Amino acid sequence: MIAVHDLPALRALARRLKVPEVELRRVEKRLFKHRMPVDEVLAALPPATRTVWRNEVDWAPLELVSRQDSAVDGASKLAFQARDGAVIESVLLRFHTGRSSVCVSTQVGCAADCAFCATGRLGLKRNLTTAEILDQVLQAARLFHAEGRTLRNLVFMGMGEPLHNEVAVRDAVEALRDPERFNFTERHIVVSTVGVPAAMVRFAERFPGVNLALSLHSARDEVRRRLVPTTKRHSLTELRAAAAAVTARQRRPLMIEYLLFDGVTDTAADLAALQAFVAGIPVHLNLIPFNPVAGTEPLGLRGTPPERREAFGAALKRAGLKVTLRRSLGADIDGACGQLARRVGPAAPDND
Ligand code: SAH
Repeated sequence: MIAVHDLPALRALARRLKVPEVELRRVEKRLFKHRMPVDEVLAALPPATRTVWRNEVDWAPLELVSRQDSAVDGASKLAFQARDGAVIESVLLRFHTGRSSVCVSTQVGCAADCAFCATGRLGLKRNLTTAEILDQVLQAARLFHAEGRTLRNLVFMGMGEPLHNEVAVRDAVEALRDPERFNFTERHIVVSTVGVPAAMVRFAERFPGVNLALSLHSARDEVRRRLVPTTKRHSLTELRAAAAAVTARQRRPLMIEYLLFDGVTDTAADLAALQAFVAGIPVHLNLIPFNPVAGTEPLGLRGTPPERREAFGAALKRAGLKVTLRRSLGADIDGACGQLARRVGPAAPDND
């Protein structure tokens, strides 16, 4: 079957069915620009060939199986089922400013095994395909469209490690920034990584205008190895060199995500190590509060209390750094950072 983002294949099918180019363009517009439901997209095609289009094109590789809307903020968590039964989650984010964003997954589960993250508990099941990554965006865009909102922002911060699924993510970003397809502004896309040095540099070379975010969380090797076990293979020295190489190629500062854990990543030594890590590299620091996750209790990780988070942020600002104290949406629906673990609906048991 042809994937909807595969324009050359769609155009070849149109030629085979003798559908004029203008009619196909109308379909592409309905699909990507107007974000219409699949039936309305198909309605733009000549009735005589509609069945062929329906059968030969994979219009929706994912099926929406559940949706939870936050009662306290503008987040909705969507669970999608793929053809093989795998369930993944995406989060719709609605901000007060009117901005709408979607947080997408790139893998079923994750191999990174971060101590504090629910997805890590699942282990890696498989990579998502480019079509599955993009269908999360299409379906989110349609839902937003139906609410009168326009999806313009997108973060790769759902389940999985984007740079462990490098080729599919690269092709998805190509489709997202392509004016003939999704037409996202590059700086409205953020790809967040646990820190795979060589892949980060390759990404920056190919996408100098797309934001890369590094989940650093600690600038001390012994602490970071414990929190983010997958990075044992790469020292912070190597990661810092990659971060510098990324910013040398990109037009934008590198985003750094830093989780504040009481007594673990928020001490004076942590502050000093963080400042040394970012010295001379254009970065934007995001300080993230810890969202408690079931199964991580034995580790005894507690989030830093708000006053001390603010003090940590203030110290970094005084040192001349760009700092944002981030707030997570969707905690009441297990849709906040680190809480995605394919539980379908509130009453369903964990099914992994
Ligand atoms: N694998 C990618 C993207 C997924 S997670 C990465 O590691 O960047 C997006 C962000 O949420 C990461 O910075 C991740 O470390 C953070 N996160 C994971 N668990 C969390 C939790 N329980 N509370 C707050 N943030 C968490």
